[in-house]
Amino acid sequence: MGGSSDSLASSGDGRELSLPASHPRPLGSPLGPIRRSNLPVLDERLRGTKFVTLQPKSVLNSPEQTGMDFWSLNPYVGCEFGCSYCYARYAHRYVVQRAHDAGKLSDAELAEFQGPHGWEAFEQRIFVKQQILAALDSDLRRFFRRVRQQPRDTIVIGTATDPYQPAERRFRLTRAVLARLAQCEGLSIGLITKSSLVARDTDLFAQIQRHNDLEVHVSLITLDVALIRALESRSPIPAVRLRALKRLTDAGVNAGLIVAPVLPGITDDVPRLEALFHAARVAGARFLTASPLRLYPGIRDRFLPVLDAHFPELADRYRRAYAGRGAAPRDYARALSRRIKRLQVKWGFPVWRMSDRYEKRRPGPQRELPL
Ligand code: SF4
Repeated sequence: MGGSSDSLASSGDGRELSLPASHPRPLGSPLGPIRRSNLPVLDERLRGTKFVTLQPKSVLNSPEQTGMDFWSLNPYVGCEFGCSYCYARYAHRYVVQRAHDAGKLSDAELAEFQGPHGWEAFEQRIFVKQQILAALDSDLRRFFRRVRQQPRDTIVIGTATDPYQPAERRFRLTRAVLARLAQCEGLSIGLITKSSLVARDTDLFAQIQRHNDLEVHVSLITLDVALIRALESRSPIPAVRLRALKRLTDAGVNAGLIVAPVLPGITDDVPRLEALFHAARVAGARFLTASPLRLYPGIRDRFLPVLDAHFPELADRYRRAYAGRGAAPRDYARALSRRIKRLQVKWGFPVWRMSDRYEKRRPGPQRELPL
């Protein structure tokens, strides 16, 4: 998510929920005490996560805003799942900086929202885009004006934060967005998540599919639970995600597995990949796509120490391979792509990458139904 169209709420009607002096300090939070903020705070959790209101005028980011080939939508900024390799931390930094520039965060609060190492707040200060439907309705008018000229545009939900992260259980913004999109027809919609909560919205996916192209990507990089816990702080374990995928496919939802990122030397060997293909088959996946790790500067501070701790023998090789670049080395990416294609053929999945998907967008008339 580029986040360039976000704007922050004024004081609004949210109230600061500061902790009483007698309240125990949040457990395990590296961000320290919670200070009063001009941003309305919606909720806080004992482990230190704070949910903060964001009232954007726009939530649908165009390809020009993000540099991606599709429109993107993220109901939240920041993600409690806290994957060490997550490339979306920049979006949170951008929103925090804008809040500070707009006078919504003091210098001290800016420090709190950045965290001591510059990455913690992405996982523990979650912005919630309240009144998202008003912004979406206005965006959809813009979108439908645009797609009359370019009728192959796709909307992807969950490009920079997980749309079914724990916050969604309470705030239900993703469900509201899906209900709105279910009133449209002729759209091409993708959604990416690591959460089993996605199965809650099977009814809406079924509605959307009646008049639109839909792909739900359940994201899983390995079946190895120990490895998941080392790399992803709070994501659901593989079995839970695969059960959710099965629930979706059993209900006829066009859902599959996305294996991203594939980690060189850690998850990219054929037996590990093949185990994922097998699990995807058992879960009824309609497709499986994969792509290699991107290691942009903003991710290194979070990911490389994890690598140092768990794979010290690989850490220097990663530093060399990704020196001066964010994308995986070209030869490696090509070899991985060939390996994935061979496995897609072997396991009877369509042979395409996610990026291909959004180049073959649904042609034909697109129509916005009455708001
Ligand atoms: S679930 Fe996705 S958005 Fe959330 S931390 Fe992990 S990679 Fe980032």
